[in-house]
Amino acid sequence: MSETREHLIHWLRDAYAMEKQALEMCERQSERIENYPELKARIAEHVVETKSQIARLDECFKLLEESPSAVKDAAGWFMGNMQAAGGMLMPDEIVKGSMASYVFENLEIASYTILIAAAEADSQPKIASLCREILEQEKAMAEWLKNHLSETTKTFLQRDEADVKARA
Ligand code: MG
Ligand code: FE
Repeated sequence: MSETREHLIHWLRDAYAMEKQALEMCERQSERIENYPELKARIAEHVVETKSQIARLDECFKLLEESPSAVKDAAGWFMGNMQAAGGMLMPDEIVKGSMASYVFENLEIASYTILIAAAEADSQPKIASLCREILEQEKAMAEWLKNHLSETTKTFLQRDEADVKARA
């Protein structure tokens, strides 16, 4: 197997673990969010997109007659749970969560940009095109989150002030 092919498979496995983690994170977030209906709905929509991305990655592995790694899967699952558990302790978790999600989407954007280049270098146009489809969804999600960071923060701050007044 060529070095390029080996790198491609390795990076596809990284992406697979990343998406499993993304799925875990988004599912937890969409379940937990109560007071931000627009954000909740957008994350729930991204849960559906993330499942379709995992299916596309499965297709990439089939095209190469390879499979995703089970070990990385478990690691991703663990990380997702840890992050959700950490979030429960913070009163400003909606703000921290929005920030973490935006960072995560940008990690995904970098990963698929790299995968597209590797697939092209390995003459795998179908894999490049599947990764391009995923990349577009990640870009749209990152853009949406960026555009709503300010509003989410201000809503949180208003709610927090109101909570303090209600308790006083
Ligand atoms: Mg994704
Ligand atoms: Fe994503």
